[in-house]
Amino acid sequence: FDHDADTVLPTIYERTTAAALAHEAVNLGQGFPDQEGPEWLRQAAAQALTDPTSGPSNQYAPGLGLPVLREAVAEDHLRRGGVSLDPSSEVMITTGATEAIAASILAFASPGSQVLTFEPHYDSYGAMAALAGAELVGVPLRGPEFRPDMDALEAAVTEQTSMLLLNTPHNPTGTVFTEQELRRAVEIARRHDLVIMCDEVYEQLVLTGPEGEAAPQPHRSVLSVPGAAEVAVAIGSAGKSFSVTGWKVGWLCGSAELVNRIRGVKQFLTFSSGPAFQWAVAQGLQDDRGFFAENAASLSAARDLLHSGLQSAGLRPNRAASGYFLLADISEITALDDVAFCRLLAEEVGVAAIPVSSLTIRHRAEHRDPAEGDPLQKLVRFAFCKRLSTLEEGIDRMVSRL
Ligand code: PMP
Ligand code: GLN
Repeated sequence: FDHDADTVLPTIYERTTAAALAHEAVNLGQGFPDQEGPEWLRQAAAQALTDPTSGPSNQYAPGLGLPVLREAVAEDHLRRGGVSLDPSSEVMITTGATEAIAASILAFASPGSQVLTFEPHYDSYGAMAALAGAELVGVPLRGPEFRPDMDALEAAVTEQTSMLLLNTPHNPTGTVFTEQELRRAVEIARRHDLVIMCDEVYEQLVLTGPEGEAAPQPHRSVLSVPGAAEVAVAIGSAGKSFSVTGWKVGWLCGSAELVNRIRGVKQFLTFSSGPAFQWAVAQGLQDDRGFFAENAASLSAARDLLHSGLQSAGLRPNRAASGYFLLADISEITALDDVAFCRLLAEEVGVAAIPVSSLTIRHRAEHRDPAEGDPLQKLVRFAFCKRLSTLEEGIDRMVSRL
């Protein structure tokens, strides 16, 4: 992997998927389910495509998105978080959460400005900050708990800082931010005049606690925190909520003023995205037919299987509270760093995974920590959003070959 050109090379996810194919490795790298999303949802999209008299036309959707989906997103925020949004001005549908992230960063980061996030972080934050001419500054999340240190976040704010990029539930650590942590973030943003972009794509994927207990930390949207409305936008993804990552339907919610600024950028990125998918997602949000609970339960079982499998292979995984990924500490079994270990894992063990340093700012040479033993270079991310049989095959290979 060449880590020094992240806006030029294919992403770490695509390179890992290519390495998995080349070495016939079990792909626990890129985060996508290896099963299709709910059939009734796919049928709703098919019906919209073939029978435009009962659904939307196949021509351009409005720039803000189909009204029926904006209403469904607003209702969902009200039902789950008590957040009241006007669907005509405070909700915008985007081409995946990726576009919502891109448009937010391009709207509020400018050349010479700084954008703050916790790291490891989702890769597009760094790439989009670079495309905006801004600098991404990272505050590390430290294992084994990976809780955000809000004092360290505030201490990293400078005159140049324009945005806080939050992500809860968090990729790749699985951390779900507490209400208290979100309150602190909003206070910091208000005190220093910053815009918060809160990436909440894993909002429906909060997993059970140990022994199948209820989730210890339910998801809270940043928008449910007092004072958030003036400073924060929240982003969601149908790909993640309904296990249809290829559909690329996302949304962004916040005050009319913030949404309007971001819309100004979004309209020149893709203008709008496929109406049939938007239509189907609206139906799914209106009535998920029990899918969210079922999906969280099966992901919890998959997480538990991979967790014990990685322990059997001598690794030290965290017990992710949400999302698609576990982080495993490799320092007990190898002196290699995460990049070299992932290469060995794909080529010799037959399992593809993501080196966590590629999701940090310090992976770039100028930021690399000269001190040996940077903990973020000893972590590997494994995806468990896969069939149990896929996970078992990967575990067998690691237990017998590592
Ligand atoms: N944010 C995070 C934290 C993610 O893990 C992903 C990957 N799915 C995205 C955003 C992108 O979402 P989408 O596929 O809807 O563009
Ligand atoms: N969100 C997915 C992950 O973290 C990957 C998305 C992508 O390939 N861009 O693995």
